[in-house]
Amino acid sequence: MKPEIAARASDAAGFVFDMDGTIALGDRDSGGHKALPHAIELLETLKRRGTPFVVFTNGTAKPPAAYAASLRKAGFPVEDRQMLTPSSSAADWLVRGGIERVRVLGNEGCAAPLVEAGLDVVAPGAEAEGVEAVYTGWFREFTFPDLEASCQSLWDGARLVTASHVPFFATANGRGIGSSYAINAMLTAMTGKRPRVLGKPSRTALDTALGVMGLPKRAVKQIVVVGDDPALEMRMANSAGALSIGMATGIMAGDAELPERDRPAALLSDLSPLLEALA
Ligand SMILES: [Mg+2]
Repeated sequence: MKPEIAARASDAAGFVFDMDGTIALGDRDSGGHKALPHAIELLETLKRRGTPFVVFTNGTAKPPAAYAASLRKAGFPVEDRQMLTPSSSAADWLVRGGIERVRVLGNEGCAAPLVEAGLDVVAPGAEAEGVEAVYTGWFREFTFPDLEASCQSLWDGARLVTASHVPFFATANGRGIGSSYAINAMLTAMTGKRPRVLGKPSRTALDTALGVMGLPKRAVKQIVVVGDDPALEMRMANSAGALSIGMATGIMAGDAELPERDRPAALLSDLSPLLEALA
């Protein structure tokens, strides 16, 4: 890592970590997580220094508290409030926009942060008037009645917002289908409305992370975003002027072919250079 990048990391006001492929890997045997090398030590060091950090995963299959519990079980010092999903930033955005009634195309884990934020959550296929937004997340149970009810809400004036809009994600068994991407494609085809992304790589996601860390929005250039996905964490960091640190421990193998907006300021093969910068 170049000295100027190490200095920026050392002076950072806060850190946003991706989960899978960055600090941990899914463990098929336990259904939980396994820490990647130096990851626990790095988070312990930040905690000791009093440097705020959050872990932001782009999955909405579970509520944030369930991911936090899984990370704690793997040895990480992560409190529930430090764990974020796209539903965390979606809840922020919806509340800020004065939206009250939301149809959630997702399971209970996807809806949990919206319920906690006091939003009136409407079930996927429920008949309902006055729905102001349709929010799509991880939802393998999607049915035709859900499609009909969602289209009706959108035709009646609801906004279309989504956790994530990427077609595929990496799994231990190869390519997985991004459920919200496929559902969004159907909803856009039927209504002409395009989804607004509220998870990574949106500025909304980064603003929610700043808020949880107790930092003002203007501190965005003093934070570090660490991740393995060029189109999610690197793009989110670069577009906001945060320091982008790429990890080759997940889906990013190299950075030579990447467009500038998705290229990390530094690409690391493990977390030890960051740990050294903070020591
Ligand atoms: Mg990842």
